[in-house]
Amino acid sequence: PLTKPKDVIEFARAQGVVMVDLKFVDLLGNWQHFSIPITALSEEVFQEGLGFDGSSIRGFQSIDQSDMILIPDPTTAVVDPVCEVPTLSLIGDVYDPVTREPYTRDPRYIARKAEAYLKRSGIADVSYWGPEVEFFIFDSIRFDQGAHYGFYFIDSEEGIWNSGRDEGRPNLGHRPRWKEGYFPVPPADSLQDLRSEIVLRLMQAGIEVETHHHEVATGGQCEIDMRFQTLTRMADQVLMYKYIIKNVARAHGKTATFMPKPLFGDNGSGMHVHQSLWKEGRNLFWDERGYAGLSELARYYIGGILYHTPALLAFCAPTTNSYRRLVPGYEAPVNLVYSRRNRSAGIRIPMYSDSPEAKRIEYRCPDPSANPYLAFAAILMAGLDGIQNRIDPGDPVDVDLYELPPEEARKIKQVPGSLEEALRALERDHEFLLRGGVFTPDVIETWIELKRKEVDAIRLRPHPYEFYLYYSA
Ligand code: GLN
Ligand code: MG
Ligand code: MG
Ligand code: MG
Repeated sequence: PLTKPKDVIEFARAQGVVMVDLKFVDLLGNWQHFSIPITALSEEVFQEGLGFDGSSIRGFQSIDQSDMILIPDPTTAVVDPVCEVPTLSLIGDVYDPVTREPYTRDPRYIARKAEAYLKRSGIADVSYWGPEVEFFIFDSIRFDQGAHYGFYFIDSEEGIWNSGRDEGRPNLGHRPRWKEGYFPVPPADSLQDLRSEIVLRLMQAGIEVETHHHEVATGGQCEIDMRFQTLTRMADQVLMYKYIIKNVARAHGKTATFMPKPLFGDNGSGMHVHQSLWKEGRNLFWDERGYAGLSELARYYIGGILYHTPALLAFCAPTTNSYRRLVPGYEAPVNLVYSRRNRSAGIRIPMYSDSPEAKRIEYRCPDPSANPYLAFAAILMAGLDGIQNRIDPGDPVDVDLYELPPEEARKIKQVPGSLEEALRALERDHEFLLRGGVFTPDVIETWIELKRKEVDAIRLRPHPYEFYLYYSA
């Protein structure tokens, strides 16, 4: 990546760019943006920043103190892979214009503070992150508002992925069988070229891609895997990933969603997060003598994550829909244990390779509705707490959990059952997030308040299925 403002401006000229798009992330994890003509981009912009109105951004300032500054990060400069007009894309950090300090509710600042805290702790100098972000591509979605109940229907009964009924397109009959979407070649997998096009644009945006494939769910579920990166950069990449996917789908008359469980009765979309800590070029998670090649430090890191998972999920599975995914039977985790085999375990130890460099843990609870900056930062803080306080994760559980005697099975802790439960856990347990000033009490409170509104919005509305259960009851 480019590092100097001067080089960014030169790069933009050489690429024939005429517009500059400045992006920043809101508290919930969505990109917001505004643009300036290339003639307005000077080296000064990278020092002084550009003013914008932060009052209408969810989770940011109230109206009376809404002026904010955006300072673009030169290392994020790429030609925007979506815009038709040649446009330079820059991700920025949000600053308070009065204090000239980074804005404490800027998720990117929280992610950068987490990385700095890791270094300061002396435990490691860098962490690597590899999220597997799953998503659905649908042909159409019917936003029929059910009278004044304010709920939406997805046309999933016949599979919106292939019905094409509304547009009068023919149904050519090839469709993945239920839960067998992973392997068949086209025409059963009708999204091969679409994913390839997405991958080419990711690469154009400087993102290294390892694989792409259809996922297990019948309804057009996909996954594209990026090569691991440092924490803040990977969070930047996840937002670029979502941006490209939604826009390429749109250009093909389709629609993409990262909601964790759009279809009842089929697999949901997870964001398994692979991670490792490194010091002086050495992977601290590796020890050939340990279980599954894990070091003692890695075990404590796991201990911290499992211990704090109820609270962590307020950031890692932060929607009411997330808890419709975290149920048995769909390869989503339900048990707060670690294992090299069980896909129902909260943490899995991948055994694809026995090289020390590849040793990592896979935290399976998060889903793509998370704000990746906050989720990665929170996971790191939980793992570090585990190391600092030597939190023992207990023994791994490699047996089939359904085969355990009931009294054993009952001892195994499970993921929270709802967003409200996770928020209550975060209320009780967030001290570990405040260390080193990484998360502030204000961020935790604001988050809980925003998310409780979502819980209430769902709680207060009659659910479509209630009509089936109770209308004639
Ligand atoms: N979709 C599954 C989940 O929700 C994961 C499936 C897989 O990658 N094996 O986590
Ligand atoms: Mg995968
Ligand atoms: Mg997957
Ligand atoms: Mg995985």
